[in-house]
Amino acid sequence: MAGIMQDSFGRVLDYVRISVTDRCNFRCIYCMPAEGIEWIPHEKILTYEDMLFLCSILTDLGVRKIRFTGGEPFVRKGFVPFLESVKEAHPHLRIAVTTNGSLLEKWAERISGLGLDSLNVSLDTLNAEKFLQTTRTGDLQRVLRGIDAVRQTKGVPVKLNSVVMRDFNFDEIAALVGFAAEKDATLRFIEFMPLDKDVWSQSQFVPAEEILSRLPDPDQWMSCPSKENRSNICGPSRYFRNSVTGQRVGIISAVSDHFCHLCNRLRVTSTGVVRPCLFGNFGVPLLEGLRAKDAGAVREGILHAVSRKPRRGATGVPSEEGAEAFQEERHMSQIGG
Ligand code: SAM
Ligand code: SF4
Repeated sequence: MAGIMQDSFGRVLDYVRISVTDRCNFRCIYCMPAEGIEWIPHEKILTYEDMLFLCSILTDLGVRKIRFTGGEPFVRKGFVPFLESVKEAHPHLRIAVTTNGSLLEKWAERISGLGLDSLNVSLDTLNAEKFLQTTRTGDLQRVLRGIDAVRQTKGVPVKLNSVVMRDFNFDEIAALVGFAAEKDATLRFIEFMPLDKDVWSQSQFVPAEEILSRLPDPDQWMSCPSKENRSNICGPSRYFRNSVTGQRVGIISAVSDHFCHLCNRLRVTSTGVVRPCLFGNFGVPLLEGLRAKDAGAVREGILHAVSRKPRRGATGVPSEEGAEAFQEERHMSQIGG
């Protein structure tokens, strides 16, 4: 029977995000610098076999949901067959994926058969030129075709994630809400998180309350009951429902609000380091134990990370001298957003 993982503050940890690769075909301005990223050599990255072994240890420890993310998970060869093998080994595990959507068209049919819990697609703008500027390499039409292909299969609920930056897509909030309504997808706005001081800038940060004030017909949005405020990238989303149309929109305010008391997650980087908190550098390496198929050592490593989960992460807008708030493994693509 599965156990229960609880941290020192009584929080039950039943959700893990695994980064399947640090590599990506985009270079989003809020995630990575344009140049100078060195990809981690293949031998240092978890193999699918390592990840499958990890999944069985995690499910034994009481984990009920695993999200596979990256980097861009679909750029790793064999990702979809890997998802199929996870599903086969753990039919009751809730499996989710976060993607930039660029390769979805090709895989839509096959992933729709997986019974995924959710497929989160990042979409920050509906303007093709801005899309190219932000992702530095991306083709908006390709992502939109991918979203449509998945929707047509009706096999997996699609959610959309938009990171809001002041001079970039703050003016598109209403348009993105309209697009999500049209596609019947739940949209979540994400505050721009200060993970890398070379990428983050105070001038581009927009706090959640300001994002909310830009929703179309602001008076029509009612806060959803707290049980609907389920976990997300770095903390729970707060959801709002439109009292006229019934549309639901979420906001992930990891910077301006602290939801640490509700945090139920661990992260595993693509090099197999388990990290108890996104806003901290502490992590426990699991790679050696995974390669040796030493379930005891891996379990011990995970529980050690759990014991070090802080009551509250060092979130918030960094002060000028607050460089320590930035991470060592600095980009969301490396940590596994
Ligand atoms: N490549 C996939 C994608 O873009 O969806 C998965 C990995 S990406 C790191 C996961 C999520 O992190 C995306 O929704 C992305 O928008 C978000 N993200 C990356 N950097 C961020 C930052 N500095 N602040 C807030 N969200 C960020
Ligand atoms: Fe790649 Fe996702 Fe980071 Fe964009 S946010 S660079 S798509 S990992």
